[in-house]
Amino acid sequence: REKRTPVIAGNWKMNSGSPAEASALLGGLLEACPKAPACEVVVCPPATALALAADTLRGSAIALGAQNCHFAPSGAYTGEVSAAMLTGVGCTHVIIGHSERRQYFGETNETAGKRLAAAVAGGLCGILCVGESLEQREAGQEIETCAAQLAGGLAEIPAEALAHVMIAYEPVWAIGTGRTATAQEANRVCGEIRRLLAERYGTEAADRVRILYGGSMNEKNAAELLAQPEIDGGLIGGASLKPESFAAIIRACE
Ligand code: PEP
Repeated sequence: REKRTPVIAGNWKMNSGSPAEASALLGGLLEACPKAPACEVVVCPPATALALAADTLRGSAIALGAQNCHFAPSGAYTGEVSAAMLTGVGCTHVIIGHSERRQYFGETNETAGKRLAAAVAGGLCGILCVGESLEQREAGQEIETCAAQLAGGLAEIPAEALAHVMIAYEPVWAIGTGRTATAQEANRVCGEIRRLLAERYGTEAADRVRILYGGSMNEKNAAELLAQPEIDGGLIGGASLKPESFAAIIRACE
């Protein structure tokens, strides 16, 4: 099979969203990051900084993503943003079903599925996040949790749309905690995720899907994680706010 191009995506979460902060961080990233990276690079700022980020990143090797999108094209959905609005402002990617959305904002497997379908139909590449909580991990339920999240999240994604989907395996207990899954364990679960994708879409299609790891990835642990055969990149929270760290993770793909 062809080698999968790795992807490093930065999730700023609710940080650096003002024009001044976003400008400073984007400037730092443009300076620190390789101009011809060996991977695809995406940054996902808060919605308030997307327009500015699209202007700042134009012509660079860094693509622009959002952190969520609604499933309707427009309408009475206060506080939400549609896929067409995101492409209109210059986004090519969107994170869907992040564990923080699931934990704090009532995102379910079903709503994640609707959002992902709308994102892909709208021309975006969707990064579907899956991953077990600490409780589920301790009960040995990590694979069945991911399976249910994949089943719901991909419910409306037919085989021909799978090329516009990436999966991020993000064990909740590793997000923002400084606690990473070991490279071997992250690789095992990513392999299981690929097996689940193969059950639904066939081996060939599953082999083309990029599966990222997320959860306290940083410049120190990135190389070992990214060297795993089933791990095709990273979704980076905290370290994506530090240009030198984010750049080092990108260089770990070389
Ligand atoms: C994330 O929010 O997707 C994430 C992985 O965060 P952190 O890198 O800070 O653990």
